[in-house]
Amino acid sequence: MKNLFNYIKLYPSFFNWKIFSEGAFFSAWGHTRAPFSVNFQITDKCNLKCKACSFFGSGERSSSCANEADLESIRNFLLSISKYKPVVSFGGGEPFARGDFLEILKTAKKECGLKTIVITNGTLLGDETINIISGSKLTDYLVISLYNLYEKHDEIVGVKGAFEKTLGNIRKLVKLRGVELIVSTVLMEENARDLERFAGFFLNEGVKKIKIEHQNFITEKEHEAFNGSAVFCPGTFIKKGRFDEQFIKEAWDVLGRIRKAYPSVFVKPPLSRKEFYGWYGADPAAAGKCHFIKHSFFISPRGQIIPCQYFNNCVLGQIGRDDPIRLWNSMNYRKAREIIERGSFAMCSRCCK
Ligand code: SF4
Ligand code: SF4
Repeated sequence: MKNLFNYIKLYPSFFNWKIFSEGAFFSAWGHTRAPFSVNFQITDKCNLKCKACSFFGSGERSSSCANEADLESIRNFLLSISKYKPVVSFGGGEPFARGDFLEILKTAKKECGLKTIVITNGTLLGDETINIISGSKLTDYLVISLYNLYEKHDEIVGVKGAFEKTLGNIRKLVKLRGVELIVSTVLMEENARDLERFAGFFLNEGVKKIKIEHQNFITEKEHEAFNGSAVFCPGTFIKKGRFDEQFIKEAWDVLGRIRKAYPSVFVKPPLSRKEFYGWYGADPAAAGKCHFIKHSFFISPRGQIIPCQYFNNCVLGQIGRDDPIRLWNSMNYRKAREIIERGSFAMCSRCCK
């Protein structure tokens, strides 16, 4: 429940009464009638190589994406699902690395009338794109991912000048006031001690909300037990063991001070002290229940419908071929939900959903 309140406070324009009416169906059937949110990994191309990225963090950048879902099949999918009014989230890779991304966004927002959220690294937004997005209010929320300030950020994303580029674009967006901006970061050993300054810096720049996400890591042992088939790239979020106690204590104190000083900073998920110590202490007892797969799904860059981004091998359907609502309510999908729930998979124990 505290996750739901956090979500509503972070994205108030996504709130509607459907959440309550669907709640009854959810309790009876174990899933909603239609997905609340559809999360596109719209491309796996990206111009950065973040240490914090579960897909590209090994340093291998993807410059092309074979069989990327095309505009027409994305459009048909959005039209077919639009009457159920899901929130549509676009992430990647880097969405703006796709040449036709503005067209996709226009289809979702203007043609289908859907609520949208775009998650970007903010480096590829030229003036023209900024003017179009702000002027036409092409998205309800623009979430810009940053990991620290100036050179420290550049070091994490592996590209010199990335911070200055993104900051320049944030300043333009703040001035135009066309979209609601959220700066998003991930708690890491590399930035934990700088997060107070980070939050203060962007609030001072006129950004209204900051989101700090907990890290979705798994341990080497857990990775082996799962036969390595989770999406986490080796060398990124696969940890040798637990975080050291000094880090856990300091990070908890930092988050406490930030919560006190800045009410517009949101920590996702909002863990209690016990949950926080269990999460970073790699305590297997910290595994929680997944609600996400019962109300939302992901779409891979190739247009495959998958239950979540960490189960990209579990392909349940294909946009442009399968009726999304029939698929969502199918026996196959139900079975997948049951298997994931019963499986107690390692990545589910530290998931931000
Ligand atoms: S910008 Fe996003 S997709 Fe690109 S490398 Fe960084 S975290 Fe990964
Ligand atoms: S990682 Fe597990 S808990 Fe998280 S959304 Fe996926 S299935 Fe659910």
